[in-house]
Amino acid sequence: MTAESRDAFFHLANVQVGEPFLAKAIIDTNALFVGTLPGAPYHYAAVCKDISRINHSCTPNAAYHVDLRTFAFDVRALFPISPGEQVFISYIDPALPRAARQDALSSYAFTCACPACSLPKPALAQSEVRRALIARADATAESRNAALERWARGTPTESTPDYASITTVDKMYMDLFEKERLYYEPVWEGYMARLCKAACAVGDGEAARRWAGLAAALNRAYTGEDRGWDEVASAPERTDWWGVRTRKLGGVRSRTNLDAG
Ligand SMILES: [Zn+2]
Repeated sequence: MTAESRDAFFHLANVQVGEPFLAKAIIDTNALFVGTLPGAPYHYAAVCKDISRINHSCTPNAAYHVDLRTFAFDVRALFPISPGEQVFISYIDPALPRAARQDALSSYAFTCACPACSLPKPALAQSEVRRALIARADATAESRNAALERWARGTPTESTPDYASITTVDKMYMDLFEKERLYYEPVWEGYMARLCKAACAVGDGEAARRWAGLAAALNRAYTGEDRGWDEVASAPERTDWWGVRTRKLGGVRSRTNLDAG
Protein backbone atom coordinates (compact mmCIF):
# COMPACT_ATOMS: atom_id res chain seq x y z
CA MET A 1 0.00 0.00 0.00
CA THR A 2 1.02 3.60 -0.44
CA ALA A 3 1.98 5.44 2.74
CA GLU A 4 -1.30 7.39 2.48
CA SER A 5 -3.44 4.24 2.12
CA ARG A 6 -1.53 2.52 4.92
CA ASP A 7 -2.14 5.50 7.17
CA ALA A 8 -5.88 5.51 6.30
CA PHE A 9 -6.08 1.74 6.86
CA PHE A 10 -4.47 1.82 10.32
CA HIS A 11 -6.73 4.69 11.38
CA LEU A 12 -9.88 2.63 10.85
CA ALA A 13 -11.76 1.32 13.91
CA ASN A 14 -10.59 -1.83 15.69
CA VAL A 15 -12.93 -3.73 18.00
CA GLN A 16 -10.99 -7.03 17.89
CA VAL A 17 -9.01 -6.24 21.01
CA GLY A 18 -7.95 -9.89 21.54
CA GLU A 19 -6.48 -10.19 18.03
CA PRO A 20 -2.66 -10.00 18.17
CA PHE A 21 -2.26 -8.95 14.51
CA LEU A 22 -3.42 -5.37 14.12
CA ALA A 23 -3.93 -5.59 10.34
CA LYS A 24 -6.17 -8.68 10.76
CA ALA A 25 -8.08 -6.97 13.59
CA ILE A 26 -8.78 -3.97 11.33
CA ILE A 27 -9.86 -6.23 8.47
CA ASP A 28 -12.21 -8.18 10.78
CA THR A 29 -13.73 -4.94 12.06
CA ASN A 30 -14.10 -3.15 8.74
CA ALA A 31 -14.32 -5.64 5.87
CA LEU A 32 -17.31 -5.46 3.53
CA PHE A 33 -18.56 -8.69 2.02
CA VAL A 34 -17.78 -9.07 -1.68
CA GLY A 35 -18.63 -12.73 -2.34
CA THR A 36 -16.87 -14.95 -4.83
CA LEU A 37 -14.81 -13.60 -7.71
CA PRO A 38 -14.85 -15.09 -11.20
CA GLY A 39 -12.62 -18.17 -11.37
CA ALA A 40 -11.89 -18.31 -7.64
CA PRO A 41 -13.57 -20.65 -5.15
CA TYR A 42 -13.20 -18.37 -2.11
CA HIS A 43 -15.37 -15.71 -0.52
CA TYR A 44 -13.77 -12.28 -0.52
CA ALA A 45 -14.15 -9.14 1.57
CA ALA A 46 -12.72 -5.67 1.13
CA VAL A 47 -11.72 -2.80 3.36
CA CYS A 48 -12.63 0.62 1.99
CA LYS A 49 -11.19 3.92 3.16
CA ASP A 50 -14.56 5.69 3.49
CA ILE A 51 -17.30 3.08 3.01
CA SER A 52 -15.92 0.92 5.84
CA ARG A 53 -16.67 3.84 8.17
CA ILE A 54 -20.41 3.81 7.43
CA ASN A 55 -22.40 2.63 10.44
CA HIS A 56 -24.85 -0.25 10.52
CA SER A 57 -28.64 -0.16 10.72
CA CYS A 58 -31.13 -3.03 10.44
CA THR A 59 -33.21 -0.46 8.54
CA PRO A 60 -30.46 0.81 6.23
CA ASN A 61 -31.09 3.87 4.08
CA ALA A 62 -28.29 2.92 1.67
CA ALA A 63 -26.61 -0.11 0.13
CA TYR A 64 -23.12 -0.69 -1.19
CA HIS A 65 -22.30 -2.43 -4.40
CA VAL A 66 -19.04 -3.79 -5.84
CA ASP A 67 -18.33 -3.46 -9.55
CA LEU A 68 -16.20 -6.49 -10.34
CA ARG A 69 -15.05 -5.00 -13.67
CA THR A 70 -13.41 -2.03 -12.00
CA PHE A 71 -13.16 -3.24 -8.38
CA ALA A 72 -14.88 0.01 -7.45
CA PHE A 73 -17.40 0.26 -4.61
CA ASP A 74 -20.31 2.64 -4.58
CA VAL A 75 -22.98 3.48 -2.03
CA ARG A 76 -26.44 4.57 -3.11
CA ALA A 77 -29.58 5.62 -1.26
CA LEU A 78 -32.44 3.12 -0.83
CA PHE A 79 -34.65 5.87 0.61
CA PRO A 80 -34.37 9.64 0.33
CA ILE A 81 -31.61 10.89 2.67
CA SER A 82 -31.87 14.47 3.95
CA PRO A 83 -28.79 16.72 4.31
CA GLY A 84 -27.21 16.05 7.71
CA GLU A 85 -28.95 12.67 8.08
CA GLN A 86 -26.58 9.76 8.76
CA VAL A 87 -26.01 7.19 6.02
CA PHE A 88 -26.45 3.56 7.14
CA ILE A 89 -25.76 0.24 5.45
CA SER A 90 -26.49 -3.23 6.84
CA TYR A 91 -23.63 -5.47 7.99
CA ILE A 92 -25.88 -8.51 8.45
CA ASP A 93 -29.08 -10.09 7.13
CA PRO A 94 -31.62 -7.46 8.24
CA ALA A 95 -34.62 -9.81 7.95
CA LEU A 96 -33.44 -11.91 10.92
CA PRO A 97 -35.33 -11.53 14.23
CA ARG A 98 -33.90 -8.93 16.60
CA ALA A 99 -32.13 -11.43 18.90
CA ALA A 100 -30.42 -13.09 15.92
CA ARG A 101 -29.44 -9.69 14.51
CA GLN A 102 -27.89 -8.64 17.81
CA ASP A 103 -26.07 -11.96 17.94
CA ALA A 104 -24.74 -11.55 14.38
CA LEU A 105 -23.56 -8.05 15.24
CA SER A 106 -21.78 -9.10 18.44
CA SER A 107 -18.48 -9.54 16.58
CA TYR A 108 -18.59 -5.78 15.85
CA ALA A 109 -18.81 -5.13 19.61
CA PHE A 110 -21.85 -2.86 19.63
CA THR A 111 -25.50 -3.21 20.54
CA CYS A 112 -27.64 -2.06 17.64
CA ALA A 113 -29.95 0.80 18.57
CA CYS A 114 -31.42 1.32 15.10
CA PRO A 115 -35.14 2.19 14.75
CA ALA A 116 -36.07 -1.50 14.31
CA CYS A 117 -34.01 -2.66 17.32
CA SER A 118 -35.17 0.06 19.68
CA LEU A 119 -38.91 -0.35 19.16
CA PRO A 120 -41.00 -0.74 22.34
CA LYS A 121 -42.47 -4.19 22.94
CA PRO A 122 -45.84 -4.18 21.12
CA ALA A 123 -44.38 -2.43 18.07
CA LEU A 124 -41.35 -4.74 18.14
CA ALA A 125 -43.62 -7.81 18.01
CA GLN A 126 -45.27 -6.41 14.86
CA SER A 127 -41.90 -5.65 13.32
CA GLU A 128 -40.71 -9.20 14.06
CA VAL A 129 -43.80 -10.64 12.31
CA ARG A 130 -43.26 -8.36 9.30
CA ARG A 131 -39.58 -9.32 9.04
CA ALA A 132 -40.40 -13.03 9.35
CA LEU A 133 -42.85 -12.64 6.45
CA ILE A 134 -40.28 -10.65 4.46
CA ALA A 135 -37.59 -13.29 5.08
CA ARG A 136 -39.65 -15.99 3.39
CA ALA A 137 -41.40 -13.74 0.90
CA ASP A 138 -39.89 -15.59 -2.05
CA ALA A 139 -41.35 -19.01 -1.14
CA THR A 140 -44.43 -18.67 -3.36
CA ALA A 141 -42.89 -16.60 -6.17
CA GLU A 142 -43.32 -19.29 -8.82
CA SER A 143 -47.03 -19.89 -8.19
CA ARG A 144 -47.67 -16.13 -7.97
CA ASN A 145 -45.93 -15.55 -11.30
CA ALA A 146 -47.97 -18.36 -12.85
CA ALA A 147 -51.24 -16.98 -11.42
CA LEU A 148 -50.47 -13.54 -12.84
CA GLU A 149 -49.65 -15.03 -16.22
CA ARG A 150 -52.97 -16.96 -16.24
CA TRP A 151 -54.89 -13.87 -15.14
CA ALA A 152 -53.36 -11.66 -17.82
CA ARG A 153 -53.17 -14.00 -20.79
CA GLY A 154 -55.63 -16.79 -20.06
CA THR A 155 -59.25 -16.86 -21.15
CA PRO A 156 -61.29 -14.97 -18.54
CA THR A 157 -63.98 -16.92 -16.70
CA GLU A 158 -66.51 -16.05 -13.99
CA SER A 159 -63.95 -16.87 -11.29
CA THR A 160 -61.04 -14.91 -12.79
CA PRO A 161 -59.99 -12.29 -10.21
CA ASP A 162 -60.15 -8.60 -11.07
CA TYR A 163 -57.15 -6.22 -11.10
CA ALA A 164 -57.58 -5.30 -7.42
CA SER A 165 -57.74 -8.95 -6.29
CA ILE A 166 -54.83 -10.22 -8.37
CA THR A 167 -52.57 -7.47 -6.94
CA THR A 168 -53.73 -7.70 -3.29
CA VAL A 169 -50.96 -9.96 -1.97
CA ASP A 170 -48.18 -8.22 -3.89
CA LYS A 171 -49.41 -4.84 -2.63
CA MET A 172 -49.57 -6.19 0.93
CA TYR A 173 -45.90 -7.16 0.67
CA MET A 174 -44.96 -3.76 -0.78
CA ASP A 175 -46.65 -2.36 2.30
CA LEU A 176 -44.56 -4.63 4.53
CA PHE A 177 -41.33 -3.53 2.81
CA GLU A 178 -42.39 0.12 3.16
CA LYS A 179 -43.47 -0.21 6.82
CA GLU A 180 -40.20 -1.93 7.76
CA ARG A 181 -38.24 0.45 5.53
CA LEU A 182 -36.68 -2.70 4.13
CA TYR A 183 -36.80 -3.50 0.43
CA TYR A 184 -35.29 -6.89 1.13
CA GLU A 185 -32.73 -7.99 -1.44
CA PRO A 186 -33.36 -9.83 -3.69
CA VAL A 187 -37.06 -10.64 -3.03
CA TRP A 188 -38.47 -7.11 -3.47
CA GLU A 189 -38.02 -7.20 -7.23
CA GLY A 190 -40.46 -10.09 -7.84
CA TYR A 191 -43.23 -8.11 -6.13
CA MET A 192 -42.53 -4.94 -8.04
CA ALA A 193 -42.30 -6.85 -11.33
CA ARG A 194 -45.70 -8.50 -10.79
CA LEU A 195 -47.31 -5.18 -9.83
CA CYS A 196 -45.80 -3.48 -12.86
CA LYS A 197 -46.92 -6.31 -15.18
CA ALA A 198 -50.46 -6.24 -13.74
CA ALA A 199 -50.60 -2.46 -14.23
CA CYS A 200 -49.37 -2.85 -17.82
CA ALA A 201 -51.88 -5.64 -18.47
CA VAL A 202 -54.79 -3.29 -17.69
CA GLY A 203 -53.11 -0.31 -19.36
CA ASP A 204 -52.54 1.64 -16.12
CA GLY A 205 -49.52 3.65 -17.31
CA GLU A 206 -49.21 5.77 -14.20
CA ALA A 207 -48.92 2.77 -11.85
CA ALA A 208 -46.62 0.92 -14.27
CA ARG A 209 -44.28 3.93 -14.48
CA ARG A 210 -44.27 4.32 -10.68
CA TRP A 211 -43.39 0.65 -10.02
CA ALA A 212 -40.80 0.55 -12.80
CA GLY A 213 -39.21 3.81 -11.64
CA LEU A 214 -38.87 2.50 -8.08
CA ALA A 215 -37.51 -0.82 -9.38
CA ALA A 216 -34.89 1.05 -11.45
CA ALA A 217 -33.76 3.12 -8.45
CA LEU A 218 -33.55 0.12 -6.12
CA ASN A 219 -31.71 -1.95 -8.70
CA ARG A 220 -29.18 0.84 -9.18
CA ALA A 221 -28.62 0.91 -5.40
CA TYR A 222 -28.25 -2.84 -5.08
CA THR A 223 -26.57 -3.79 -8.37
CA GLY A 224 -25.23 -0.57 -9.91
CA GLU A 225 -27.52 -0.99 -12.95
CA ASP A 226 -31.19 -0.32 -13.71
CA ARG A 227 -31.52 -3.83 -15.25
CA GLY A 228 -33.91 -2.65 -17.95
CA TRP A 229 -36.38 -0.90 -15.64
CA ASP A 230 -35.61 2.62 -16.93
CA GLU A 231 -36.88 1.59 -20.35
CA VAL A 232 -40.09 0.16 -18.85
CA ALA A 233 -40.58 3.32 -16.76
CA SER A 234 -40.23 5.58 -19.79
CA ALA A 235 -42.56 3.57 -22.06
CA PRO A 236 -44.61 0.83 -20.31
CA GLU A 237 -46.87 0.69 -23.36
CA ARG A 238 -44.00 -0.81 -25.34
CA THR A 239 -43.76 -3.92 -23.09
CA ASP A 240 -45.43 -7.13 -24.25
CA TRP A 241 -47.68 -6.96 -21.16
CA TRP A 242 -49.33 -3.76 -22.27
CA GLY A 243 -53.11 -4.10 -22.53
CA VAL A 244 -53.11 -7.93 -22.69
CA ARG A 245 -55.77 -8.23 -19.99
CA THR A 246 -57.89 -5.31 -21.18
CA ARG A 247 -58.09 -6.81 -24.67
CA LYS A 248 -59.39 -10.10 -23.20
CA LEU A 249 -61.97 -8.28 -21.09
CA GLY A 250 -63.04 -6.33 -24.17
CA GLY A 251 -63.75 -9.70 -25.81
CA VAL A 252 -65.84 -10.85 -22.86
CA ARG A 253 -67.78 -7.61 -22.70
CA SER A 254 -68.78 -7.64 -26.34
CA ARG A 255 -69.91 -11.27 -26.01
CA THR A 256 -72.01 -10.32 -22.98
CA ASN A 257 -73.48 -7.42 -24.94
CA LEU A 258 -74.32 -9.71 -27.78
CA ASP A 259 -76.05 -12.13 -25.38
CA ALA A 260 -77.99 -9.27 -23.85
CA GLY A 261 -79.04 -8.03 -27.27
ZN1 LIG B 1 -30.78 -2.86 14.52
